[in-house]
Amino acid sequence: MANELRFDGRVAIVTGAGNGLGRAHALLLASRGAKVVVNDLGGGRHGGGTSSEAADKVVAEIKAAGGEAVANYDSVEQGSRIVQSALDAFGRIDIVVNNAGILRDVTFHKMTEEDWELIYRVHVLGSFRVTHAAWPHMRDQGYGRIIFTSSAAGIYGNFGQANYSMAKLGIVGLSNTLALEGKKKNVLVNTIAPLAGSRLTETVLPKELIDALKPEYVSPLVAYLCHESSSETGGLFEVGGGFFAKLRWERAEGKTVRLGRGIKVEDLQKDWNKVAGFDTTTHPAEINQSMGPVMANVQAGPAKG
Ligand code: NAD
Repeated sequence: MANELRFDGRVAIVTGAGNGLGRAHALLLASRGAKVVVNDLGGGRHGGGTSSEAADKVVAEIKAAGGEAVANYDSVEQGSRIVQSALDAFGRIDIVVNNAGILRDVTFHKMTEEDWELIYRVHVLGSFRVTHAAWPHMRDQGYGRIIFTSSAAGIYGNFGQANYSMAKLGIVGLSNTLALEGKKKNVLVNTIAPLAGSRLTETVLPKELIDALKPEYVSPLVAYLCHESSSETGGLFEVGGGFFAKLRWERAEGKTVRLGRGIKVEDLQKDWNKVAGFDTTTHPAEINQSMGPVMANVQAGPAKG
């Protein structure tokens, strides 16, 4: 293909690449010329056990197709070891796809601190450690592409997933700030909220959907965002089953009460539709826009009379 987007000379880490989405991302990037570190500790769906088999199988698939890859079996909690694998094998790191993940679904009243902690460690701390180890290399070379993996469960909430929702929306906050800090150094950071049939979803989705929602339908977005031609950063995208869409915040028109005379509970009751209705809206995209109406009201000063 004449205009094929290629990754020749680029080195990518894909975490949790032994199965599901990570495997599909790794295969696609490798098929386009990237050298890939296939990370997977080969544990179970709930985080138990380890095995080198999952990562080895994907490395073998990549090599059989003529690509370059090495396996790494560390947990993402040992993020710096994974980055070191990339440096040892290929001498640089250009792309990090934070994908590794597990579930510990349980309703909040039955959730233990261990359920909470484990999900935090794999998703949030793991994404932090891998990214934090790669970050200085990307800054120094003036190039980097980072993907975080969130979930609709974090964005909208999902019954029985308080721990997972916390972790998945925490990742969006991390991504938002890294996008700001990385931009000047051409380190671009985006987050996907995927939907795909995998080991993780096979117990919660019907079989027809699992078969229909192929992980490889998600990977083209990951590859696009990781390509040097993309300038997208700070985005959050819903993706799956052939659907691709960016999300943003929407804010109600809002009610402004002039300062100086106190604010009554009844002021809010009277104008609740302005506070919480979405007939008239704005889309604040950065913190200064968020603060705009507050600052304007402070500057307007106290109400006269
Ligand atoms: P999957 O279970 O098929 O694959 C996840 C892989 O991560 C597994 O191979 C597992 O061994 C590996 N892994 C788990 N803990 C690890 C650790 N500590 N270190 C290294 N590797 C580890 O699941 P999937 O559906 O492909 O999920 C991939 C990511 O997408 C996860 O972050 C998940 O939360 C997210 N996600 C998936 C869906 C979906 O519909 N499948 C929806 C929303 C979010």
